[in-house]
Amino acid sequence: MSTSQERYAAALMNTFGPPQLVLSRGKGARVWDEDGREYVDLLGGIAVNALGHAHPAVVEAVTRQLSTLGHVSNFFASEPQITLAERLLDLIGPPTVVESARPGPPGSRGKVFFTNSGTEANEAALKLTRRTGRTHLVAAEGSFHGRTMGALALTGKAAYREPFEPLPGHVTFVPYGDPDALREAVTDRTAAVVLEPIQGEAGVVEPPAGYLETARAVTREHGTLLWLDEVQTGIGRTGSWFAAAQDPAVAPDVVTVAKGLGGGIPIGACLGIGPAGDLLQPGHHGTTFGGNPVACAAALAVIETIESEGLLDNALERGRELAEILRSQPEVVGVSGRGLLVGAALSGDFAPQVVRAGREAGFLLNATGPSRLRLAPPLVLADDDVRAFGDAGADILAAAQETP
Ligand SMILES: *Cc1c(COP(=O)(O)O)cnc(C)c1O
Repeated sequence: MSTSQERYAAALMNTFGPPQLVLSRGKGARVWDEDGREYVDLLGGIAVNALGHAHPAVVEAVTRQLSTLGHVSNFFASEPQITLAERLLDLIGPPTVVESARPGPPGSRGKVFFTNSGTEANEAALKLTRRTGRTHLVAAEGSFHGRTMGALALTGKAAYREPFEPLPGHVTFVPYGDPDALREAVTDRTAAVVLEPIQGEAGVVEPPAGYLETARAVTREHGTLLWLDEVQTGIGRTGSWFAAAQDPAVAPDVVTVAKGLGGGIPIGACLGIGPAGDLLQPGHHGTTFGGNPVACAAALAVIETIESEGLLDNALERGRELAEILRSQPEVVGVSGRGLLVGAALSGDFAPQVVRAGREAGFLLNATGPSRLRLAPPLVLADDDVRAFGDAGADILAAAQETP
């Protein structure tokens, strides 16, 4: 064990287990550890480092904003915050569903609440759903919505929930991707249905075609909000700005984003679309740091760079290449996902060994379960990064199967 790892173990709570490496710098989709070893980062800080590491656009935006105005509190506004809220609403597009069942003035395209993380974006959304006057929620088995108590109450993984029960709320879990189960669970007392368009932490699980459209139809029928958690899938990850929130046939009322939004600077957002944007009123919610100018400036730089560098297309193309590499391995029995959110099902329970063999070969990979891998690399992933993985992939998988 290195000295840094001993110091880590002595000083940090053991919530994450021992760290795999101590990393000291990064550039693009490459990172270096404290011994100077180079790795291709195919995890991207768990779908966070959209522009990779040390991208000049983020460095410049943060530096400029921090040396101008770093923090003001929410008693005051700042230009980056207003512009970012407008940009996010632009990216979602106009609301296509306006229901009389919902309070608030008609005509607004929606409103944004900024947070510092994904779980906080979901807490804001959860509080927003309470303002419908209803408390029942429907969430999916296998879902992940965060670790704070409210978001945890909606998270489908019992092992995360059970040590902290009782959790708030009245939540019904339904099998993900099953439209009949959804139809049965939603009633006129359901405040919201919360779904990930693709389940990320579950191992990049896609619902069958038409599932989210059904969720929209069912919620509309009952005056229930449709809330999409795009914390992992949003901001270009799947090759479009959102995995589903822009789709007029899905047209959610609430969208939460975080991970990739700040390109590594902590920021999240809860978007209330159409009238849902007016459910939270003065005094209902707050945050000290949320929407701070530095984080908002970073997010604006991320969005501008995704546009100027054509990173939506890059995510699609590089994602297709990564999926192809995985699909061609005999140990891989299924590939899922879109753009640069790629899942691989293995022929046996050796995903942790693949992660270890990958690391030894100079690649940062992720196992979401005993037999599932997830890749969520930076959207700036380059040809030679993909080629390096293509050259090493077969050896990594073979080495993994030989290690216990
Ligand atoms: C990561 C994640 C969260 C939680 O975000 P944090 O920033 O870790 O709090 C919530 N929902 C989804 C879908 C996620 O992938």
